[in-house]
Amino acid sequence: MQPSTIAFHETSERAGALLESGAAFARLQGQLPAPAAHAQPVDVVVIGAGQAGLSVGFHLARAGLGFVILDAHRRVGDSWRKRWDSLRLFTPARYDSLVGMPFPAPAGHFPTKDEMAEYLEAYAERFALPVRCGVRVDEVWRSGERYLVRAGAQDYLARHVVVAAARHQEPKLPAFASALDPSIRQWHSSQYRNASQLNAGTALLVGAGNSGAEIALDLARTHRVWLAGRHPGHLPVAYDGALARHVVVPIVFRVLFHRVLTADNALGRKARPKFVGHSGPLIRVRPRQLAAAGVQRVARLADVRDGQPVLEDGRRLSVDNVVWCTGYRPGLDWLKLPALGTDSRPDQYRGVATREPGLYFVGLPFQHSPSSAMIHGVARDARRVAERIVQRMRMSV
Ligand SMILES: Cc1cc2nc3c(=O)[nH]c(=O)nc-3n(C[C@H](O)[C@H](O)[C@H](O)COP(=O)(O)OP(=O)(O)OC[C@H]3O[C@@H](n4cnc5c(N)ncnc54)[C@H](O)[C@@H]3O)c2cc1C
Repeated sequence: MQPSTIAFHETSERAGALLESGAAFARLQGQLPAPAAHAQPVDVVVIGAGQAGLSVGFHLARAGLGFVILDAHRRVGDSWRKRWDSLRLFTPARYDSLVGMPFPAPAGHFPTKDEMAEYLEAYAERFALPVRCGVRVDEVWRSGERYLVRAGAQDYLARHVVVAAARHQEPKLPAFASALDPSIRQWHSSQYRNASQLNAGTALLVGAGNSGAEIALDLARTHRVWLAGRHPGHLPVAYDGALARHVVVPIVFRVLFHRVLTADNALGRKARPKFVGHSGPLIRVRPRQLAAAGVQRVARLADVRDGQPVLEDGRRLSVDNVVWCTGYRPGLDWLKLPALGTDSRPDQYRGVATREPGLYFVGLPFQHSPSSAMIHGVARDARRVAERIVQRMRMSV
């Protein structure tokens, strides 16, 4: 984009009924393509070779299943490489390991984005995971008792499909973004790399979650920065202090985000919409730091009039740049299956699609808990999904 354009146990009977309803859905669509003659049969296709896909791959390999991991990027780790230059993970190395291979750094080190990318690439190599890079999945259809996965010229016929690609793919922008004056440079946070992309002068960051706050600090060194949006809350202690390191962060990551707030309890279900539709609390940045860096907090952005941004309180800002830190859409239109709810998000319980018997998800925001979409939490969901696949494979032989 250019600037300014911008655990349920199911019987085989139930599985059969679900297969039938999926086939009916495809017939209704009337578009089910015929698989190519050279379609490759495989037990499992995993879509996405980020931390979620690699974690599932680890368990599938151990179980001895035939599978392939497809990823649109050129290299494993590219999701991280493509993030902004100064990005360091907010989770120290002790929370950045996938199952079976410790992150190669002292426990308190905050990895750079490139170090994380290298780690993922090394992980795929170490466990000889069958990753095919540069392969974008265009469509997934039900074809009888298998899934037809279309990826460019290659078709796969899979018994099971794991979608490990459901986050941070399709930028979400308000409709009025296109009404900004063409002289204002605008970027989504996923496209932001560093200040040199921007016009000199002022920058409005829309969305005050973790990305907004971190990019605000990055830009405050070179630009006058406004940060628009509601404050999502923050950790009550300095992130780099001993109290945070030894007490607060372990409690938040390992207990609150992993065990306390889950889809299985009322507290978790209440918190879920906040994590899914909005930003969770600020992890590393504190309001005091933003103020010290000269970042000015302003109301939510309400509209664009005469090419200029207008805030909810009626204030009109004259800006040279806008960075949209407004999050992502699910971006799963390529799933030609009855798998999504009315909000376009997957209908799933613990990663198992509720209306498709061979479809799974890993890495969704609050899939089971907030940690589902974090490095230290993805392992639990990945293992569970892999176990379910193995169980169903056994049931079907
Ligand atoms: C700015 C930022 C900072 C973060 N910092 C941290 C942190 O410090 N600690 C932490 O625990 N978490 C952090 N996260 C959250 C999370 O760990 C990362 O987003 C992580 O990259 C998610 O991994 P994933 O495997 O679920 O998805 P991704 O890393 O996005 O990988 C998905 C893969 O799927 C591929 N894909 C998508 N669609 C298709 C398709 N149709 N066909 C083929 N391939 C496809 C993509 O190419 C991509 O490689 C951060 C997130 C962001 C955005």
